[in-house]
Amino acid sequence: MYGDENSSDELEAIHAARLDVDLEMAEMNASADAWHAVRNRGFCNHGSAVGYLGSPVREGRKILKPGQLACTAGCGTVFANDEDWYAQCGDPMANPVALPAPAGA
Ligand SMILES: [Zn+2]
Repeated sequence: MYGDENSSDELEAIHAARLDVDLEMAEMNASADAWHAVRNRGFCNHGSAVGYLGSPVREGRKILKPGQLACTAGCGTVFANDEDWYAQCGDPMANPVALPAPAGA
């Protein structure tokens, strides 16, 4: 606190900071909800992927070529490259891929 500020200035700053945090949390919760909603609807959000690592990578039955990535979040989709994965990860419902039914279901 500076000499020309009073406690109400400081309180206001604290409230503003709290509001920022609240908004940030609300945003994070909203994107988390959207994220889970995709999976709850039975579609993959491609949250993780494995890439070609100098030798063919086996992900399920798929063999990756250099540059390709395969989803390891459930669906095994092969992406042509990083951009393809990022795009589909960012908007999984643009090209929805159904998750396999859970074992035993
Ligand atoms: Zn996937």
